[in-house]
Amino acid sequence: MKFYNNTKIPDEILQPLLAKAGRAVHTKTTETIVQVNSARSGSVSGKAYAYWWAKGFRGLPKGKKIKTDGGMFSITLPRFGCTPEDSLRIATRFFNVACHEWVHIRDFQEEKKRPYARVLPWAERGESGRRANWKNRPEEQRAEFACADAKLRGKDENWAYEEIMALAIALDEARK
Ligand SMILES: [Zn+2]
Repeated sequence: MKFYNNTKIPDEILQPLLAKAGRAVHTKTTETIVQVNSARSGSVSGKAYAYWWAKGFRGLPKGKKIKTDGGMFSITLPRFGCTPEDSLRIATRFFNVACHEWVHIRDFQEEKKRPYARVLPWAERGESGRRANWKNRPEEQRAEFACADAKLRGKDENWAYEEIMALAIALDEARK
């Protein structure tokens, strides 16, 4: 993982959590750019891009071209939770959103292996020039299914309880 942390939460807390999310959905994480940004609102959101190099993104080192295999994603993290329960909610959501973005990266990596043929179904722009509703897009459905599946398996396997709890505690500390 090419990790860029733009928050006050230590790398040692965020990185293992993000790596575990990638493993949960079977994505090769080594060369992917992951940036974590501080959110002004209380919500966690993510966005994945199918780029093979990145430059000029807010939150990445300025003027530097960074190579990436499998693209990049950014994810936002609120600065603190308002209550201990809220901190836990944010930490859990952070893990879930990370799983979701990793599935997009996995799809990008899959497509990159076969540059001349699309292997997976993707939302196309219709005649109106607009794509299907977010939740009806094949790539979003794949991500949601893969995360739900990982969650089911996670019940008996090694889910990220410890890592999520470590983040929840750090978010709760940040409030005080
Ligand atoms: Zn998505």
